[in-house]
Amino acid sequence: MLIGLDIGGTKVEGVIVSPHDSQVVHRLRVDTPKTNYAAFLAAIKQVINTLLQKETIQSIGIGCCGSIERATGKMQGANILYLNGQDFLGDLRSSYSIPIALTNDANCLAISEFESGAAREAKGSCLAVILGTGCGGGVVINGNIVDGEHGLGGEIGHNPLPHYAPEIDGPQELCYCGSMNCNESFVSGTGFERTWALKHSPRTAKQIFAAYSEGDEQAIKHVEYYCDCLARILGNIVNIIDPEVIVLGGGVSNQDAIYPLVQQKLSHYTFSKKVSTPVVKAMHGDSSGVLGAAFLPLMKGMIE
Ligand SMILES: [Zn+2]
Repeated sequence: MLIGLDIGGTKVEGVIVSPHDSQVVHRLRVDTPKTNYAAFLAAIKQVINTLLQKETIQSIGIGCCGSIERATGKMQGANILYLNGQDFLGDLRSSYSIPIALTNDANCLAISEFESGAAREAKGSCLAVILGTGCGGGVVINGNIVDGEHGLGGEIGHNPLPHYAPEIDGPQELCYCGSMNCNESFVSGTGFERTWALKHSPRTAKQIFAAYSEGDEQAIKHVEYYCDCLARILGNIVNIIDPEVIVLGGGVSNQDAIYPLVQQKLSHYTFSKKVSTPVVKAMHGDSSGVLGAAFLPLMKGMIE
């Protein structure tokens, strides 16, 4: 059996998953400590210890914000701020004798969908993109998650929007990361609302999609614009890695209207105009974090 942990800013979810059928056999949730790293580490160990008592466990996989700096092994870029600069993985490994691995939540989406979700038919590759508050991505190549040299593999949210033109995409937008016109500023759920508000009075993504399904002309134009941005981004990635499947997760991915539009526009932005890479909705929803985390050590060959 595998342990998977999904560590978020407010909750930590821990599960035991069967590697054979991806069934979750135990699940528990605790609040993420707000105060400091020592309290955080104690809470994480408590979750792991509770799960370890329930089954024979082969490995522990962790999905967490941020990444591990390869040179130092320390956490960086985590929005649980006290985690940054800590040797979180090292501290866990010194407490347990089974293999432990850690990656970010977008990579967990890619792993869970590749192993047992919408990309399970793929032989070796998929791209997963989270369209939520932010925009993250994960890439599986040759059946393995691509972490990259700096832990940046799949971070397509912070590439610049392809074919950016101010008359179509609005004025330049500075991202919190320091770059201009990041994809995230256009295709995250937040970006969807931001670009709407450049032309109309502010509305939530849900309100805009509701108006779309009622045939509202401005909403239809905006959803088409959004899907064009997404197709530009995905087309760019197809030209680099040409994955078998593209899986979308996060809040906006629940809007069925986007799929035929993105699918139809995708080949406008690829080198070959015959590209028909399926763009599909993630299957695991909120469970993708824990499932992907659980399968991480298996995918990395740390266990058999
Ligand atoms: Zn950025």
